[in-house]
Amino acid sequence: MPDVEVRCKACDRPVAQIGGGHRKRECCHEACKQRFYRQSKQQQEQEQREQQEARMLALWSNDYLPATRWLLNAVMNVHGVDLAKRLAHAISSEVAEREEELRQLRKRLTAL
Ligand SMILES: [Zn+2]
Repeated sequence: MPDVEVRCKACDRPVAQIGGGHRKRECCHEACKQRFYRQSKQQQEQEQREQQEARMLALWSNDYLPATRWLLNAVMNVHGVDLAKRLAHAISSEVAEREEELRQLRKRLTAL
């Protein structure tokens, strides 16, 4: 019974199999194997990054105006998610500070 032909995961060339209980080879060459795993890892990291970015966008949609979200997204795309998160935090702190000032002013106003 002939084995189903295995093609290298990196270069798509047929992979010669070693019989006698060896594990099925997935790549034709050690260099291809390394390339395949490097690419898989990069792809995985890319997917994680995209998931995190989607999470941040969803989170920001509750707290910020569209123009601010657009800017946060632009910062995230160019400088990464960490700087964008710090920027979002700084904006929120500014808003909280102004809200507190407003509360104090209202309190003084009602006391008049
Ligand atoms: Zn190969």
